[in-house]
Amino acid sequence: MQEYNDQTICALATAVGGALAVIRLSGPLALDTARKLWRGHGTLDKTHARRMMLGALHDENGRSIDQSCLAVYFPGPDSYTGEDVVELHGHGGALPMRRALEALLRLGLRTALPGEFTRRAFLNGKLDLTQAEAVAEVISAESDAALALANRQLAGELGTAVEELRTRTQALLAEVESHLDFPDEELDWQSPEWLARETAELQLRLRALAATRREGEVLREGVSLVIAGAPNVGKSSLLNRLLGRDRAIVSATPGTTRDTVEAELVVHGIPLHLVDTAGIRESKDAIETDGMARARNAVASADLVLWLTEAVGENVLPWPEWAHRGAVLQVENKCDLGTSTSTGDIIRISAKTGEGLDILADAIEEAILGQRGLATGTLAVSARHAALLVDACTRLTEATPLLAAQEWELAAIPLRGALNALGEITGQTAAPDLLDTIFHRFCIGK
Ligand code: GDP
Repeated sequence: MQEYNDQTICALATAVGGALAVIRLSGPLALDTARKLWRGHGTLDKTHARRMMLGALHDENGRSIDQSCLAVYFPGPDSYTGEDVVELHGHGGALPMRRALEALLRLGLRTALPGEFTRRAFLNGKLDLTQAEAVAEVISAESDAALALANRQLAGELGTAVEELRTRTQALLAEVESHLDFPDEELDWQSPEWLARETAELQLRLRALAATRREGEVLREGVSLVIAGAPNVGKSSLLNRLLGRDRAIVSATPGTTRDTVEAELVVHGIPLHLVDTAGIRESKDAIETDGMARARNAVASADLVLWLTEAVGENVLPWPEWAHRGAVLQVENKCDLGTSTSTGDIIRISAKTGEGLDILADAIEEAILGQRGLATGTLAVSARHAALLVDACTRLTEATPLLAAQEWELAAIPLRGALNALGEITGQTAAPDLLDTIFHRFCIGK
């Protein structure tokens, strides 16, 4: 997208149907335009900056839109976008704010694109790119751990960590470039040992940060967990027990869960997209056969499968070794009946009494993260960040022998590449199409 920062944009910042509605205006005409439509006891101007004032909203012909509308003016650069911003807080409902937006467009404003307010904040240096991404993540967070991660990133922790690595890479490159610029002079050069140590240390730090990707993805996107097994082993009961409510129909008649049931759940801070599948068995019932095909498909694409059996002896259907990409946990239900004869690596639970569910939760966490305990309090990068960190690390690996051989001209090339990659994380070197990709995930008005 071409940047048109001289244009003034407006958008509804709240969902239609709420009790209140907020319209946001940003750009050089924000104040003048708002003053054409809003009139209150006080005037919207710098003396009343950042103060909510009560007034009335009407269109440019004086037709009333909303008799009690709060207005607030944030003069740039001390605003969210860094530009002049006005917010109008009016009654919710579809019509009043639609009329207000139409009037704003007639007065020359343009509807904001998705994420354009935050994009302007980024372009005006109010946020780096990791912080702008964190704005979207705060909104989409599905667990407390994901929210905490997004808030740390929004506070600039990831940006600061990457910026430090970028500054150090820049210092390496500056050293190399001064060798190129002043080859014959006796400057205060860094030692070859320092160059080697610094490059190695940077690679370690980059690799460590890139390795937090799995945790970042798990927290941001959640994990799909499928509960599968023979009919009547208690799949729906387990789903309901995990959710603490009756989401799936539980019945003593085999084959009642015909379709897949989906629900969201958080276990040890990990957002799980739960899928309960139809019981697996030979069936002439077309619907149930279709349900089994779905179960197989669900298992194939799940991050984690709970293969459920029951502790009643004769009806144990072993894990059929279906195609799967995630981990499989063998779980035996109905351990309250006291009839279990199973041995080995199986998790024993009772969906009825809740026994063993804490052990199951621990096992789920370990299967997903490869360890117990989310590293809360530290950073966790996204797939985009990780790819760029790995790229930067590879470039430093390339530069290492060239630095040792004092091939300054050749060493400068991968070092510039590393610098570029790190700059793309924080946004210093981000191309417009990358910004398009990132900000189009936002909602309008954000
Ligand atoms: P599904 O077909 O695998 O989804 O199984 P359901 O959840 O519908 O349960 C089948 C039957 O087993 C129902 O009568 C449940 O009440 C019973 N059931 C489920 N879990 C347990 C358990 O942990 N202990 C006992 N005793 N019965 C259970």
